[in-house]
Amino acid sequence: MKIAIYPGSFDPITKGHLDILKTGAEIFDKIIIAVAKNSEKKGFLTIDERVKLIKESVKDIENVEVDSFDGLTIEYAKKMGAKVLIRGLRAVSDFEYELQLSQANSALSSEIKTVFLTTKPKYNFISSSTIKEIYLNNGDISKFVPDAVFEYLEKRNLS
Ligand code: ADP
Repeated sequence: MKIAIYPGSFDPITKGHLDILKTGAEIFDKIIIAVAKNSEKKGFLTIDERVKLIKESVKDIENVEVDSFDGLTIEYAKKMGAKVLIRGLRAVSDFEYELQLSQANSALSSEIKTVFLTTKPKYNFISSSTIKEIYLNNGDISKFVPDAVFEYLEKRNLS
C-alpha cells in the first residue's frame, strides 16, 4: 500500500491544496493530510479548526485521512508507514524553499521521498496568506476556498 503524507499549515485549507490532494489521491493508495503543529507561522485558525475544516472539505475523497502532528515530518511519516511526502509547487519562488526542505528531509532520512505536484492554473496563485489578507479586508474569498471554509469564516465574521 503506497501511503503519502501531505504536510502543511493549511491555515486555512484552500482550493489549491484541495486540487493537489485530489491529484495525489489518484496516484497513491492513501493520503494523510497532516497539519503541522510546530509551524513558525503565526496561526490564524487553531489546529483543531484547521483539522475540522479539512475533514469537511475532503469528505468526498475516499482515500484521504486528516491528522495533525508535532515534531519532524519525516518522523511522523515513518510512524504512519509512509515513504512519500507530497508538496505543492506554484512559482519559482516556492521552488527554492521546497528544494531545500526536501533535501534536508532526504539528508535526515533517505527512505522518505518528496514528490512535487502542481495545481490547475486557475488555482495556482492561491495561498493561505493571500486568502487571510482578502478575508481580513472584507473581500470575497468564496472562489478560493472550499465551501466549508467559506461558511465557517462567514459565520465567524458575523459573531
Ligand atoms: P507550509 O506552511 O508547510 O508551506 P501551506 O499550507 O502553506 O504549508 O502549504 C502546504 C503545501 O501546499 C506547500 O507545499 C505549498 O507549496 C503547497 N500549496 C499551497 N497552495 C498551493 C497552490 N495554490 N498550488 C500548489 N501548491 C500549493
